[in-house]
Amino acid sequence: MKAAAFDYVKPKALLEALSLLSEAGEDARLIAGGQTLLATLNMRLSEPSILIDITDIAELKGISLNGDQLRIGALVTHTAIEDSELIAKHAPLLKAAAPHIAHRAIRNLGTWGGSLAYGDPAAEWPACSLTLNAIMIIHGPAGERRISAQDFFIDLYTTSLEPDEILVATEIPVASNDQVFYFHELARRHGDYAVAGLAAVAKKQGDSLSECAFTFFSVGATPVMATSAQNIVDGQKIDEALIAKAVAAARSEIEAIADITNSAEAKQHLIGVLLERGLKHLIS
Ligand SMILES: Cc1cc2nc3c(=O)[nH]c(=O)nc-3n(C[C@H](O)[C@H](O)[C@H](O)COP(=O)(O)OP(=O)(O)OC[C@H]3O[C@@H](n4cnc5c(N)ncnc54)[C@H](O)[C@@H]3O)c2cc1C
Repeated sequence: MKAAAFDYVKPKALLEALSLLSEAGEDARLIAGGQTLLATLNMRLSEPSILIDITDIAELKGISLNGDQLRIGALVTHTAIEDSELIAKHAPLLKAAAPHIAHRAIRNLGTWGGSLAYGDPAAEWPACSLTLNAIMIIHGPAGERRISAQDFFIDLYTTSLEPDEILVATEIPVASNDQVFYFHELARRHGDYAVAGLAAVAKKQGDSLSECAFTFFSVGATPVMATSAQNIVDGQKIDEALIAKAVAAARSEIEAIADITNSAEAKQHLIGVLLERGLKHLIS
């Protein structure tokens, strides 16, 4: 199939894009890397009357360090994150996650902001942004608003973005020296979407972990944090008994949802497998 006919504009500035978006209303669609949108257009799952190409907008570009915050522009590609020295130093979880996104050709075009705005529960960046306590910087007709990743992902492919808003960038607190990270996903083949995945961060002191964030993805309608498991682990000596307790808590607090190839039971099981591996890695 081919996409239905649409108009195409490529504004040079954020304000221009916002006014085009306001004028066109729900008939417009933003396009960034196009790695998700083009497929939905070609399958006619989406038939916008106008595409607003945001790839020339400077305000949406670049990775920078502002004090203790790492700012990642919405247009930063998956490859740029994978190759960035700032990311490797200040957000190593993202460096570890990037190679799991599709294949290099897709990572060269697909963007950080496009992935977050699309809100795919099987995607890596939404889970990482939740784990790292990211703040989404959004511009709309009323100016700028900021919202935490916790409040941004609402439901399946649904975020708190309004149709007349643009995700401009994300701020992430820089990693501290005592932070440890784990990212792993179980997929049939490298580059496939995960059957289940875990993005985890904690502070390590001796043989205990604190300030833990364990986010599972590809198990529910949104990325989901295992808060009971986090509380069980927090500040306690990690041993086999504690790991078993945390695994049981994570499996019972997250209600996995089946997808077209994997059952809810399989995903529920994999939540425990990932957490056990993750805790052993974090404490090693
Ligand atoms: C074969 C294949 C395999 C893939 N595998 C994976 C994978 O394993 N993991 C994964 O995470 N992704 C995967 N993807 C998706 C890929 O990562 C996309 O690049 C990403 O999901 C969307 O980014 P994009 O820049 O291409 O967005 P686009 O396709 O341009 O846009 C996606 C949606 O976001 C909206 N949007 C884009 N930017 C903004 C913005 N700044 N503000 C508001 N709305 C915006 C668009 O209007 C559209 O609705 C895969 C894609 C393909 C084709």
